[in-house]
Amino acid sequence: MLNIVIFGPPGSGKGTQSEKIIERYGLVHISTGEILRKEIKEDSDLGKIAKSFIDKGELVPDQTIIEILEKKLESLNNVKGVIFDGFPRTVDQAVALKKMLQRHGEDVNVMLNLEVDRQELIARLLKRGQISGRSDDNLETIEKRIRVYEERTFPVIDFYKKEGTYTPIRGVGEINDIFKRISDAIDAVKV
Ligand code: ADP
Repeated sequence: MLNIVIFGPPGSGKGTQSEKIIERYGLVHISTGEILRKEIKEDSDLGKIAKSFIDKGELVPDQTIIEILEKKLESLNNVKGVIFDGFPRTVDQAVALKKMLQRHGEDVNVMLNLEVDRQELIARLLKRGQISGRSDDNLETIEKRIRVYEERTFPVIDFYKKEGTYTPIRGVGEINDIFKRISDAIDAVKV
């Protein structure tokens, strides 16, 4: 299997690039943000819990997210690989993912870190908020999400550096040029 973690701060283009990766490589897309937004729309118990964190720009508790991931992974069979988008967001989540994959004799093959500077992130997210109407794409929540990213998610980079799969990607410029950088990095990985 080809297992990819697409990583980066909010607004770095993880979702956009994931769609292109799935198309080219035929992978299953697991986006924790999308799963949570679906639960919120359905007003499920999980959705109610998730909304209280998301609207404040905070992370949903690790235990909740890890359980969602476990269920999702168990439901897959005969897949070419998975792209993890928005997960792991904490070092504990990264450790949990490693254990989950290990049970199936798998591991993360490449971690792609989309690098985009703060000013560009804020501009992109404000623009997205006008179109998508996402409740967390307003200036106050955006700034909080970036702070949470810096404090809790950034350390995940070190985890993957130690794993030897860390790959920085310049996330600024034309969508297709960024995708070229990504696909070159994926093609360089021998699975
Ligand atoms: P973005 O990358 O733009 O922040 P996402 O759709 O990935 O968008 O995530 C939106 C929100 O969902 C996050 O701010 C967080 O509250 C919650 N969330 C998503 N994935 C996770 C995760 N792995 N752990 C904890 N919270 C998460």
